[in-house]
Amino acid sequence: MTWIGYGDLKTGMLPHWEHTCVGRLDFELRDLAFFARDSLRIDEDQLKQGVLSIKFEWPLASGEVCQLRAVFPDSYPFVRPQVALRGNPETFPHKHCSPTDGNLCLLGRDTGLWSIEWTLAKLLEKQLANALNGTGMEDPQGEPMEFWWNAFAPAFDGYVDGSFMLIDTAWNVGAETEGTLRASYSLQKMDDKIRFQGVVEEIKAKDGSVLAARKFPLPPGLQLKKVTGIFPWRRVGRFAPPSPEGWRKAQGQLTFGGHVINSGSPAISMSVTVQSTELSHRVDGDTWLFPLRYGPAKSFRAVKQGQRGTSPSMIIVPTLRAGATDIGARVPSVGILKDKVIAIFGMGAIGAPVAIEFARNGCSHLTVIDHDIVEPGNSIRWPLGATAWGMRKTTAVKHHVESEYPSVEVEAIHHTVGIATAADGNGGDHSVLPPIFGKADIVIDATASSGISRLLADHCKSAGKPMISLFGTLSLKGGVVAAYQPKSGCPTCREFAYAKGLIEKAPGSGEISALNQPAGCAELTFTGASFDLHELSLEAVRLTVDILSQPAEFKESLVHTLTLHDGIKRVPPSWRVDGLPPMKECGCNQ
Ligand SMILES: [Zn+2]
Repeated sequence: MTWIGYGDLKTGMLPHWEHTCVGRLDFELRDLAFFARDSLRIDEDQLKQGVLSIKFEWPLASGEVCQLRAVFPDSYPFVRPQVALRGNPETFPHKHCSPTDGNLCLLGRDTGLWSIEWTLAKLLEKQLANALNGTGMEDPQGEPMEFWWNAFAPAFDGYVDGSFMLIDTAWNVGAETEGTLRASYSLQKMDDKIRFQGVVEEIKAKDGSVLAARKFPLPPGLQLKKVTGIFPWRRVGRFAPPSPEGWRKAQGQLTFGGHVINSGSPAISMSVTVQSTELSHRVDGDTWLFPLRYGPAKSFRAVKQGQRGTSPSMIIVPTLRAGATDIGARVPSVGILKDKVIAIFGMGAIGAPVAIEFARNGCSHLTVIDHDIVEPGNSIRWPLGATAWGMRKTTAVKHHVESEYPSVEVEAIHHTVGIATAADGNGGDHSVLPPIFGKADIVIDATASSGISRLLADHCKSAGKPMISLFGTLSLKGGVVAAYQPKSGCPTCREFAYAKGLIEKAPGSGEISALNQPAGCAELTFTGASFDLHELSLEAVRLTVDILSQPAEFKESLVHTLTLHDGIKRVPPSWRVDGLPPMKECGCNQ
């Protein structure tokens, strides 16, 4: 590294961004030199590579000076320069500062907070004192210590993507300061590297009493193949990741234990510590740290005098939070889905996205009913592609949902609604349907078949359950999402409402010209695209969440009508909402 002064800059030594913003380099440095004076030094080698990297002393109001360095990104001045403290990491402030490299958070994370008119000097004038003192405008967020450790993890040679140890924020070990924990894990050796996927099953105090236990479901990788190990844990004071140079010293603070020999894979031991940290804005809690040693069993043995030994490798296993509150916390409004049972008839291009959306939003039990198989041609508007070819649609959705969202249970029912009962009397609607309607909180009809909709609505009315029916018109110029309430209008009432002109039909109703029959397909299919069909699926999900959240507000049936086309050209999606009271002519409510 060759450091030169501002006055030593040679012509032609320019950062990349000078070419889009001519004159900015000189303007920038002149502004900074006003404060930094002769302390301003420029990394000449970096500048030859087109990167402006500088170090300088910044005068503080107290009369002291602050040792800083700054790097200007290639996309400067559209984005801010990165400023870091220099010096001993142990003196860095605990907030707004990375413990590993001293990088300062001078502005909130929103890139819009930086103004293209500002210079580094202006940024420091406005924000440095605030960052160092923890005052002024800041994002209302905490800086949990695991954030820094997880960011540090890739610095280890043995680290590969996809390693984790799962914990639950709801756990509280109280005043206990040491004990043991039991973890389930799987190990994947990849050359000299290791992928460790684990979950803390149980935390015990020193006297053996159980302080916390896992309640969240295991991720798919740990459901089939896992081993368990017992590891000691202890509480420590603030323990931040060191600078890469300081790592050797920091390792001295770790106590490894719980040595496990795994047949056919590396032996491991772990140093488990818990420390108090800010979890969210001004809310403290615990965070756990899981440094892991791994290697052949012999690398853990003490080396006899005169022999050369090997020592185990080490990684930091990133700490991830997977408790019920950790996963649900991001979108509290869908919490209502957690204990609900939703039955979805039809796993086609509108039903399957509905099922997956409910699963993503935490619905704990889905019943999916369909009779079809996934073909390659479905991929253009079905949520899953080639991995599902040849599978029953119900089975494919079940596999996908249960592995991506392990807290969701899917009951896959391969059944054709409305066909004649088999000779033995089993497997017909008579035996299949009642249990589905009995336990569902709401039924989704994505069969897009008016005859089946009437049949399902009749079952819902008898069971006193709401039903949401969704379909696009054949040309997909529009569509309908109807919510039928048991004591209000039914699908037949909707036909009467159209006939009487009380509700306007969806655009394209009755047009059949857009149908075609792909080779190998037993019937005509429509030509709508998935991005238009998703409008219907998403509206059905929104309406379901609203109905389940405020059932008292939804006593009357509703028809939501979608417009995607005005008859001449495509238009942005728009929705009209009509009430659907029971029709006298239908007689369904007499
Ligand atoms: Zn009716």
